Amino acid sequence: MDHQELWKAALGEIELAISKANFNTWFKNTNILSNENGQVVIGVPSGFAKEWLENKYNHYILQALQRHDGTVKGINCIIYTPPRHNEAPAAGRSIDAVRPKETRPTATVVSTPAPTQARASAARTTGSTSITLNPRYTFESFVVGENNDLARAACVAVAEHPGTTYNPLFIYGGVGLGKTHLLQAIGNHILSQAKGVHIHYTTSQDFTDKIIEALQNKAIREFLDQYRHIDILLIDDIQFLSGREKTQEIFFNIFNSLYQLNKQIVMTSDRPPQAIPTIEDRLRSRFASGMIADINRPSLETRMAILRLKIKEKSIKLDDESLRFIAEQMVNNVRELEGALNRVVAACELQGLVPDLGLTERILSPLVTQTKKTLNKERVAEVVTEFFHLPNGELMKKTRKKEIVEPRQIAMFLMRQELGLPLSAIGKFFGGKDHTTTLHACEKIEKRIDDDSGFAEEIKQVRERLYQEQLPTH
Ligand code: ADP
Ligand code: MG
Repeated sequence: MDHQELWKAALGEIELAISKANFNTWFKNTNILSNENGQVVIGVPSGFAKEWLENKYNHYILQALQRHDGTVKGINCIIYTPPRHNEAPAAGRSIDAVRPKETRPTATVVSTPAPTQARASAARTTGSTSITLNPRYTFESFVVGENNDLARAACVAVAEHPGTTYNPLFIYGGVGLGKTHLLQAIGNHILSQAKGVHIHYTTSQDFTDKIIEALQNKAIREFLDQYRHIDILLIDDIQFLSGREKTQEIFFNIFNSLYQLNKQIVMTSDRPPQAIPTIEDRLRSRFASGMIADINRPSLETRMAILRLKIKEKSIKLDDESLRFIAEQMVNNVRELEGALNRVVAACELQGLVPDLGLTERILSPLVTQTKKTLNKERVAEVVTEFFHLPNGELMKKTRKKEIVEPRQIAMFLMRQELGLPLSAIGKFFGGKDHTTTLHACEKIEKRIDDDSGFAEEIKQVRERLYQEQLPTH
């Protein structure tokens, strides 16, 4: 088996083991470059892919390779761009044209000082639109968690190699989860790296308004002309194009001409392309033709990390207990989380008080509903039991039956993530299991969420139920 055949066989297996979005994102344009003494060197298109393959997918790659070649012992990734062929690029496809450019490490939680005076002083004008980028929305000020790592990774890749890697890029997720932040971070990043790049940030509402205005003034040609010179089109909340036929038609034309010129297009939406109602099929399939990444609700740990970053940015002093209280209560989205933090800070400043847990609880009590207060271990076990249609109390039984083991692991994982309980407390709840059993369960579930999008969706649904179905205790 030569290198190419070996890689093809391994990819075939990896493709089955991980989600399609992840496979397309990380394994496109990879090759085996050499295999000496069992050390396989894989060429990848960016520093970014290198990091993910080495850190997240190492295990899969190794296993898949070993299944076809027992001598393989380890893998290494290096950034490599295959020599260009002389042929013209296939129409509209630009995936092979990745520039050989090293990227900075990105997969860490970054906490960065507040934006400097100079950076914060002027909102940046982006091309011909009146909407400006908010300089606060950068990759550095965005906390990475398991809920948004794929979306952030894709946005960083696009900012590093616009128009080449993932085009178009479609980001979706619920309100207040950071879509606009990421979209604008792409623009801010590109502006900080290169002068003269024409970035156009707009919302689909603004886009629609401008079209209506242009139609009224019979100035549609001028409107379209503006888009000719754009290098990067960032369009927020694309779901609002739904039901607007004329706007969709014009957008379709703009989209196609930019795309054919390898100009980068990034869109956000509150739902995936297939779930946007009354949108033309040809547009829907354009949206879905590149890379799609979703953003979910942040876990307790990520919510804590976000709060820590926010207080650092604003130079606020707040004790850990209060922070934790805010993070535990504000579970729906980041906007709500930030809002609660600001409310506590403002109320304390106004009254000249130093915040503590008691004060924080009092200030937030109007926002804290009964439902949130009653989420506890028992409730998690109950929801998981119901979700998997198990008999009551089954999760607690000492059994190794697969139908029970996995739901129990899911319950452990959720107790850890949503309630932030110590491993030992969770183990104890399930009949005195030790903390390594709980740790193993949490790790296993985390891994499956990463690898199996169907499973991730299932967990998402269970999590939704935790917050939906609770009745007040009195
Ligand atoms: P969306 O566009 O999805 O509705 P936004 O991008 O407007 O959400 O985010 C809402 C607020 O939450 C913004 O102030 C944003 O900076 C903040 N935010 C969201 N996600 C994160 C994150 N991961 N790290 C830091 N701040 C975040
Ligand atoms: Mg938004």
